Amino acid sequence: MDMLSTDSIPYSLPTVESYEPLIGGETVERILAKAERLHDLHVVNVNSTYYGGGVAEILGSLTLLMNGAGIRSGWRVLQGRPDFFSITKKMHNALQGGEINLSDMKQDVYEEVVYENAARMHLDHDLVVVHDPQPLPLIDYFRKKSPWVWRCHIDLTQPDPGLWDYLCGFIERYDAVVLSLPEYAQEISPPQRFIMPAINPFSTTNKGLSDEEIDERLSNYGIPDDLPLVVQVSRFDKWKDPQGVIEAFRIARKEVDATLVLVGNIATDDPEGQEIFESLCQCREERIHILSVQDSALVNALQRRAAVVLQKSIREGFGLTVTEAMWKGTVVIGGNVGGIRHQIEDNVNGFLVDSVEEAASQIVRVLKDHDLRARIGREARETVRSRFLMTRLMEDWLDLFGAFEPHFSLTGKTGHPGWGR
Ligand code: UDP
Repeated sequence: MDMLSTDSIPYSLPTVESYEPLIGGETVERILAKAERLHDLHVVNVNSTYYGGGVAEILGSLTLLMNGAGIRSGWRVLQGRPDFFSITKKMHNALQGGEINLSDMKQDVYEEVVYENAARMHLDHDLVVVHDPQPLPLIDYFRKKSPWVWRCHIDLTQPDPGLWDYLCGFIERYDAVVLSLPEYAQEISPPQRFIMPAINPFSTTNKGLSDEEIDERLSNYGIPDDLPLVVQVSRFDKWKDPQGVIEAFRIARKEVDATLVLVGNIATDDPEGQEIFESLCQCREERIHILSVQDSALVNALQRRAAVVLQKSIREGFGLTVTEAMWKGTVVIGGNVGGIRHQIEDNVNGFLVDSVEEAASQIVRVLKDHDLRARIGREARETVRSRFLMTRLMEDWLDLFGAFEPHFSLTGKTGHPGWGR
């Protein structure tokens, strides 16, 4: 079914042209020319949650931007039972350096739920992009006639070897694998590409806000801003080290007065979030606010009003919360890991830390030095403008799609679930 003409619809979506003031006319033209070559290409993305976490944030914006440029980009979400997401979260943890007891029963639940999803998914696209481990086995249930790409967003510096071997049974069937950073490269046969994520500056999370709008969001949640705000925005996940943030804040407060705000949401595919949130709540006090809420406007307001944003992760595939705060000209103190290292250059556009103590001393330093905040904030925003806007991500994907171009004209479609084995 075709959509109605946009003239009759009172909403507009950001297009590549909307980015012209930020990236220049030449870049806009170059991207549109690449999109034109692939006009009407039908692509589907599959992941495991509509909200909560960076993948959902990226897909929400990227698919719309692509459609605006004539690439028919869809987005499907895997439907899973709690036991399925409990297993896939264990896999996620084990891929990031934890351990897993990969029993036959876990493998069965994992593969069976993905099979059920395959049965109702009817993929009939020119290209299929599967995000992260949750939907990875889908490829086993289709007669594959078009290219399939596995896009893994996880920090893969130290995956559990047994789990990786098992997942390779699926990964090896893909035509390409996209990882966020070269250091996540693996010994696998499909060609690997490295594409860093990016943000949409026009989204609710990132668009400009007036002081009144920021005040309104903060007071809605009873967040005081009489003292400088130290903020971390993250899913409630051990890899984000929320406990370390609280410890660092407590040490810093011996020297500077401030309020800590930890905001997190609980994604549908992350069953550990609630437990971690509840355990953190014991740390609440007058100057330590811990909120579990999905409110992108609040995230935006906090990242703008914060004197400093922390992202003290101990593993981080990329870290969009870092990009988002940097875009707002806010100083970020980030864990010296994964994608954070590719965004922050220490002492230039932010700070990298390896311990709670270092985080504490950088909080003190940043809170005491207004000029430092202004200088680092300017550099941070420029870093995002030049490297981490959604148009750059779109162009990277168009280049990858373009590499499959000879294949599109030759192929039929993807077939039907159950026929492929
Ligand atoms: N986010 C949000 N509300 C929250 C916590 C996070 O909207 O309470 C968003 C955040 O703004 C960012 C994404 O979720 O866009 C998190 O992406 P990131 O890459 O930092 O981490 P991930 O959750 O994917 O590990």
